[in-house]
Amino acid sequence: MDSVFIVDPARCIGCEACVQACAECGTHRGVSMIHLEFVDRAHSVQTTPQVCMHCEEPTCAQVCPADAIKQTPDGVTQSSLKPRCIGCQNCVLACPYGVPKYQVEIDQMMKCDMCYDRTSVGKRPMCATVCPSEALYFGPLEEWRGRRRGRPVGTWRFGRQVVRTRVMMVMPESVDRIDVWADKRQGAGREDRLDERRAEVAD
Ligand code: SF4
Ligand code: SF4
Repeated sequence: MDSVFIVDPARCIGCEACVQACAECGTHRGVSMIHLEFVDRAHSVQTTPQVCMHCEEPTCAQVCPADAIKQTPDGVTQSSLKPRCIGCQNCVLACPYGVPKYQVEIDQMMKCDMCYDRTSVGKRPMCATVCPSEALYFGPLEEWRGRRRGRPVGTWRFGRQVVRTRVMMVMPESVDRIDVWADKRQGAGREDRLDERRAEVAD
């Protein structure tokens, strides 16, 4: 699979076309495997789609006691296999991106598998075909670079742990990895400053 999957949160307009398209996919029984998240709900209406990031070394598969989550040779982490999944939800807790969801009705974990039935034969995932703003891009990296600014990044830091993902997120040119904990700390700092400011106004 030569194409890359790139998520650009700044282009997301929150229309949920991706969510609808994913739910209508024949293999999902009406359940969407893509989630629409608010980036910073307290301060912004900015949304971003969340797909499985298809980690190089998927934690979800590593913690599965039933070996129900397989990774394809081209690096796509599959949804759980029904005869194997025992519904323990270890994968739900282990995924750093909050992707796998336990489906109570079928006692099984389900998650985005990058529409492997489509992408393995050169088609785009359903979500990327309907996104009107191309917040979800699937195609050649050179084509993306030819008409977009920013840098697709697939390296994430969670404290001392580094996670590399097949799906990439668009960041400014100066950023070559996404430091999740540092961003959280900066967010906390802003909350502290806001609290200080509120206290000043109240005085
Ligand atoms: S993003 Fe989560 S569900 Fe997807 S491969 Fe990584 S650990 Fe597994
Ligand atoms: S819920 Fe299923 S796929 Fe997830 S860890 Fe448990 S057995 Fe494995």
